[in-house]
Amino acid sequence: MSGLLQKELGVIENSYYEASVARPAPSPPLQGRTQAEVCVVGGGYAGLSCALELAARGFHVALLEAQRIGWGASGRNGGQAIVGFGAEGEGAIERQCPAEVAQAAWNASVEGMRLLEQRIATYGIACDHVRGYMTLAPRAHKVDGLRRWVRHMRERYDYPLEWVERPHLGRHVASDRFVAGAYDPHSGHLHPLKYCLGLGDAARRQGVEVFENSAAYRVERDKTPVVKTAEGEVRCRQVVLAGNVYLGEFGDHLAPEIAARIMPVGTYMIATEPMEAQRAAALMPSRVAVSDNNLIVDYFRLSADNRLLFGAGETFSARPPGNLVQRIRARMLQVFPHTADLIIA
Ligand SMILES: Cc1cc2nc3c(=O)[nH]c(=O)nc-3n(C[C@H](O)[C@H](O)[C@H](O)COP(=O)(O)OP(=O)(O)OC[C@H]3O[C@@H](n4cnc5c(N)ncnc54)[C@H](O)[C@@H]3O)c2cc1C
Repeated sequence: MSGLLQKELGVIENSYYEASVARPAPSPPLQGRTQAEVCVVGGGYAGLSCALELAARGFHVALLEAQRIGWGASGRNGGQAIVGFGAEGEGAIERQCPAEVAQAAWNASVEGMRLLEQRIATYGIACDHVRGYMTLAPRAHKVDGLRRWVRHMRERYDYPLEWVERPHLGRHVASDRFVAGAYDPHSGHLHPLKYCLGLGDAARRQGVEVFENSAAYRVERDKTPVVKTAEGEVRCRQVVLAGNVYLGEFGDHLAPEIAARIMPVGTYMIATEPMEAQRAAALMPSRVAVSDNNLIVDYFRLSADNRLLFGAGETFSARPPGNLVQRIRARMLQVFPHTADLIIA
């Protein structure tokens, strides 16, 4: 096992998300030879969505997951389900790409949100999905950029962001730290692992053969590709590599073409103990998900069981930084000083 995986396993053992789901019994690992039209490698959002869509169109799909479904980023992310590319993120795309490409990227993100909500409804995925999202300016000098972005989103993409200033911010977030914000009624948040496990369940119900604890260590790229695992192999017509940054972790690098373009970026969250419902409602009355518009963002939201989930900082290393909890807690107290009594669960 590589150093990257060992470090990540430590983080997952302490994951609030893992602790708040009841996982089904693992699908058995692949043993022996099997055939499929498509072999998908990776059981995160990308692999499961692909497998689900293919199976719904009648394809015979086998999906290999090295660990458990949702083990990767899909089971331990911020849970923010956002249209677009984050505060002022569209500008970067528009500067680098022709207008039609920027428009296509925007359309894809709108379509992504529609698909997410459609899947939750179609497959009955209970994942604590809540609509409502705010981007907040923490200081006066961050307000102009945010205001320009809101205007741009309305004019170029006809997207209905609502401009909110003090004292109305209190309808959403009880904090003196922020000066103004953009309210997005379509974006929101969810429990990322519950959503991922729901996709896994839907994929199985659509007929996808799911093999957990089945790392693909080699892909023989032939007319009839063969995907090898320790105890078996899948012969197929097409392979979809949806292993995210882990494609080089389990044997040969399955996508050497992109290996040099992968770099570690980490961000971490803490979860408080559950609050009484009244206290949670006073803290974030509309239960929006929030991100500020700093370069390195603070982001936070309430969980369904009334914990404050707070994320902050970014690292450009696979190694979790020291005194992680204290550092994030300090950021949390800048936003909500009156949460100092809450135990970090
Ligand atoms: C800390 C963090 C916070 C984030 N916050 C947000 C957020 O708030 N909102 C948002 O929209 N996005 C967020 N993201 C991004 C989002 O989580 C990812 O873009 C998304 O989950 C990627 O999905 P994926 O399926 O490509 O990869 P993953 O979910 O990482 O899945 C890849 C899977 O492939 C498996 N795998 C890899 N190699 C093999 C192999 N050889 N054989 C078999 N299986 C293999 C892995 O075990 C893993 O389970 C965040 C990401 C991180 C890391």
